[in-house]
Amino acid sequence: MVELRSYVAGRWVGAGASPQTLLNPATEEPLARAGSEGVDLAAALHHARSVGGPALRALSFAERGALLKAMADSMQAQRDELIALGIANGGNTRSDAKFDVDGAIGTLLAYVETAAALGERRFLVDGEGIQLGRSARFHGQHIAVPRHGVAVHINAFNFPAWGFAEKAAVALLAGMPVLSKPATSSAMVAFRVVERLVEKNTLPEGALSFLAGSPRDLVSLLGAQDVLAFTGSGSTGERIRTSPNIVRESVRVNVEADSLNAAVLGPDLAARSDMYELFLKDVVRDMTQKAGQKCTAIRRILVPAEILSSVRDDLKELLATITVGNPADEDVRMGPVATADQRADVHQGVDALQGKIVFGSLEKRNKGFFISPILVESPGDVVHEREVFGPVASLLPYQEDPAAIVARGKGGLVCSIYSDDQAFIEETALGVAPFHGRIFLGHPKIELSPGPGTVLPQLVHGGPGRAGGGEELGGPRGLSFYMQRVALEGARPVIQKLLG
Ligand code: NAP
Repeated sequence: MVELRSYVAGRWVGAGASPQTLLNPATEEPLARAGSEGVDLAAALHHARSVGGPALRALSFAERGALLKAMADSMQAQRDELIALGIANGGNTRSDAKFDVDGAIGTLLAYVETAAALGERRFLVDGEGIQLGRSARFHGQHIAVPRHGVAVHINAFNFPAWGFAEKAAVALLAGMPVLSKPATSSAMVAFRVVERLVEKNTLPEGALSFLAGSPRDLVSLLGAQDVLAFTGSGSTGERIRTSPNIVRESVRVNVEADSLNAAVLGPDLAARSDMYELFLKDVVRDMTQKAGQKCTAIRRILVPAEILSSVRDDLKELLATITVGNPADEDVRMGPVATADQRADVHQGVDALQGKIVFGSLEKRNKGFFISPILVESPGDVVHEREVFGPVASLLPYQEDPAAIVARGKGGLVCSIYSDDQAFIEETALGVAPFHGRIFLGHPKIELSPGPGTVLPQLVHGGPGRAGGGEELGGPRGLSFYMQRVALEGARPVIQKLLG
């Protein structure tokens, strides 16, 4: 069995005496063990702050970009191995695993471009200079400089490669050292990524630390210059955010949590139109890709009441083509969910929805954490409250104003709209906008449309309310979380010299 070690303070630390066992979710075969018992967390943070931070801050954005390029190259070189690990440890189909690994590499490369655009500076110049007095001499300018702490990244189980890379890329480019902690159940992919980066000396000493296993009291050790970016459930996010030291020291925290993403079908579409087919395709992809374990997956499907039954029939027909099974088998289109706990949570969630299951069932298999895709109709109001993190979505008919129904989800990552009616698009998009981080306007002419479920590094990811209130990525916008914005106020020539 593989031992997942932690890489802290410049050395590897073993899994300790009471590690957690990681399984293959399709076969329940034990694959690896991980534990953080032997890790001195305070020393790990100190090393990152005192060695990794100065090393990164000495580099320009362009030089940090070269590090990201080397990380992307390293992952590209081990791509096949990572995909195989995603299949074995994550229950991913080959296509799911590629989505994770290629998403990671693509995000790193997108930030290589951001780095090139920022050039040889070590800090950001934020906006134009401002004349503050009657004469041009009294001048103001905002800049942003890297914080002097550690960027602690706590990730969810569903995207072990992408989750690691999307956070690490932005923090390292901003000039902050990273301590990355993957969710334990699916940590094999992230461990191998980091193991190779360390083997090849890809990053300066102290720039990247890795914690395998329980976070223990990591959060309580963070201070005022540290930042914490968390992705996971709303309940863990709440616990982290309210830790006394986080509150007392104003530790900057970004939370990416649950989301009841909605897809809205406009009232204007004829069945079998290209837009209607795109809508069906996106819904089915989101329900089944990664067995529905995507934070951005469509959970609520809003359709005009008069065509509800035909949408239901069309979705059922498409869902019936999805083969569920061991993703090691190439014909399988959907694997199991990640853990036994996750399956139990999905079962409870479907019960809680109190709707009619019009496709799929909660039947268990003898081995493996399998669930069929499940389409629910006539759910209770809880459909706007509870995220069922699996291959589950609910059909909701609307008569008018779908935006008001979508808003009942109290904050989401993405809402998708499928319509050819410009007035409907505008009213719905602007109606749902205050409740979302992103709005996806489906269009059949967009070539290779990734659908609403794909997070793009150029655009912000996050959402208000239930979604955690956070924001990540968005090209250079993402850097600001890791940097301190400061206003320079003084004589213009002095400030201009300082800016170089
Ligand atoms: P989770 O149980 O909250 O765990 C997330 C991470 O937090 C794991 O690394 C976990 O470590 C760690 N953790 C647990 N308790 C902690 C504590 N007290 N202090 C510090 N860290 C702690 O969530 P999950 O089951 O992995 O992920 C599923 C959820 O993530 C879903 O609700 C989904 O919507 C959400 N998600 C959101 C996004 C987004 O971008 N908004 C993306 C992906 C997933 P261990 O694994 O070691 O327990």
